[in-house]
Amino acid sequence: LLLAYDPVRRLARVQVNIERALVNARMIYEILDTEPHQKDRPGATSLKVSRGEIDFDDVRFSYAENSPVLRGVSFRAQAGKTTAIVGPSGAGKSTLFSLLLRFYDPDGGKITIDGEDITGVTKESLRHSVAYVSQHPYLFEGSIRDNIRYGRPDATDAEVEAAARLANAEEFILQQPEGYDTLVGENGATLSGGQRQRISIARAIVRNAPILLLDEATSALDNESEAKVQQALDRVMDKRTTLVIAHRLSTVVNADHIVVLEDGHLVEEGTHDSLAHKPDGLYARFYRMQTEKAQSLLDGGEQEEST
Ligand code: ADP
Ligand code: MG
Repeated sequence: LLLAYDPVRRLARVQVNIERALVNARMIYEILDTEPHQKDRPGATSLKVSRGEIDFDDVRFSYAENSPVLRGVSFRAQAGKTTAIVGPSGAGKSTLFSLLLRFYDPDGGKITIDGEDITGVTKESLRHSVAYVSQHPYLFEGSIRDNIRYGRPDATDAEVEAAARLANAEEFILQQPEGYDTLVGENGATLSGGQRQRISIARAIVRNAPILLLDEATSALDNESEAKVQQALDRVMDKRTTLVIAHRLSTVVNADHIVVLEDGHLVEEGTHDSLAHKPDGLYARFYRMQTEKAQSLLDGGEQEEST
């Protein structure tokens, strides 16, 4: 389900590449943009996140008429906890993020943060409360320092470097010819996938937002990279409300709460222990399959991108 079979993977890959182009452009120019050029409702207020509790309440959405993508999804992402979203490709997982960031508004139901309907707050204030780590980290042409600082343009050099350390990125950064001032080519062509991810995590750390959205990478990093990326993620997830679209078994098993989406419906939710013991549950089936196949699928799965 999560680590789908090959033909599905290939299709998913095509979709991911399309998503990537769209999402990168939007995420970078909209989320991080501090210009309030987006239309807000008259009287929209500024979101003040206190606890960071997120509720999806009977959320319905379709991109095109007569093809609903979310068919009434309700769940709570508890403040300061990690909620893993799992389900087959096309289930509507990424759409939940798009709605939470208000690239679109629901056709029905609502999403609230600390009880406040997000359609009543300014997009600027909403997006400032959220850090996003994409499945395919976007790096622009510029220095490593600028790429990290993009998470919060007024961050000092010391804050940028502290974030890099927490993200397990400093060591390789200092090995670059000009350290933090090393220019990375477009999309970080000179760095490995794991390095790009850690820069993206540093960017999220420097942003210091109370809500973290994480679209987990499916690519198999080498073991060392994987451990370093995971440790960095654990640090940024700590005490933040985290929603993670999970592709790795360890993320799912360690999440505080798991939401299983299928075809726009929430079909199950609970902890790993509760779900893994439901004999006919989708999650239990997935888990049995994964534990048998996870390793070979991971090993034979998508290759790390260019180094
Ligand atoms: P998941 O992340 O679970 O794989 P998505 O939320 O990306 O699923 O997509 C759910 C459905 O919505 C899919 O059928 C997908 O093709 C469709 N979809 C996603 N994004 C768009 C879009 N921007 N325009 C039209 N359809 C879309
Ligand atoms: Mg997706």
